[in-house]
Amino acid sequence: MKSSRNGPTTYDHGGGVRSLRVPIPDNPLGHTLVYVVDTDRGPVLVDTGWDDPASWDALDAGLDACGLSVAEVHGVVITHHHPDHHGLSGRVREASGAWVAMHAADTAIVRRTRETRPERWYTYMAAKLAAAGAPEEHIAPLRRPPALRRPFPGLAPALPDREIVPGELLALPGRRVRAIWTPGHTPGHVCLHLEEEHPSRLPGHGRLFSGDHLLPEITPHIGLYEDPDDATVTDPLGDYLDSLERVGRLAPAEILPAHQHAFTDAPGRVRELLVHHEERLTGLLALLATPLTPWQLAERMEWNRPWEQIAHPSRNIAVSEAEAHLRRLVKQGRAEALPGGEPVRYVAV
Ligand SMILES: [Zn+2]
Ligand SMILES: [Zn+2]
Repeated sequence: MKSSRNGPTTYDHGGGVRSLRVPIPDNPLGHTLVYVVDTDRGPVLVDTGWDDPASWDALDAGLDACGLSVAEVHGVVITHHHPDHHGLSGRVREASGAWVAMHAADTAIVRRTRETRPERWYTYMAAKLAAAGAPEEHIAPLRRPPALRRPFPGLAPALPDREIVPGELLALPGRRVRAIWTPGHTPGHVCLHLEEEHPSRLPGHGRLFSGDHLLPEITPHIGLYEDPDDATVTDPLGDYLDSLERVGRLAPAEILPAHQHAFTDAPGRVRELLVHHEERLTGLLALLATPLTPWQLAERMEWNRPWEQIAHPSRNIAVSEAEAHLRRLVKQGRAEALPGGEPVRYVAV
């Protein structure tokens, strides 16, 4: 472990892989772990961090502490489009000429975010929340004139210039890194399997850069794949649970996640998460003994703090998570939507 004067920490994981802690401003997660993978053509980054001057400085100082510079970066591989992972990609590309790679489904979200006017999003979100049974006082701020609202974050994320193709090896000269498609947290989330022997010869198959898919102590948010242009009824929680099993079967020797810290026993962690989600679904079924709208279900679900203390934007995330669980229960035939229009109410079967 090596720290520079400014506080950013770099960690050498061995075998030409290091991590840099890039802070996420005003966020309890604290930081994104940006991985630096040495290749024959220069360092390749797995994720880049939040687009903020302090985060940029930390990335720059971290690379410096590794004896590298941003200008040398050969490529950027993004696990998913969220701003704590993809935020600085554009700046890295400007400073280095690096390519930026992402799965097509998340690139589609980036393209849509760049092209969709904020008004469209607010109208879409207001309609969705009304259908989910949100009270009028929650929806009203979304209908305010634009000048009275907070600016919409992350409006111009960098458009990737390479596609990460599931199952294929990435073009990293001198390294074997295979893309594993793990939809759920986002539709185009990928994990990256470094198919090389563990540097400390830990038992298992290589190492896995897991992004937000598999984390040691927290579960990622699983909501809906919000898309104003697509009315397909997706099942993100179902996708996530399938993706978990896929990663468990890989049995990597070590997991290198994008938050918290590296860990081992991926199959054990996968089992824990599968049990956690099954218990949560069963708990929700008990709540659905009486018909509830997604909003009412979210109010009754267990969160990391009482519902009254959950701020407006986080309530949107919570109701989206409640809906993801409802979709799973409906798909499993354990719950159903009652006929009778909006807001839709669901009940256990
Ligand atoms: Zn994320
Ligand atoms: Zn994240």
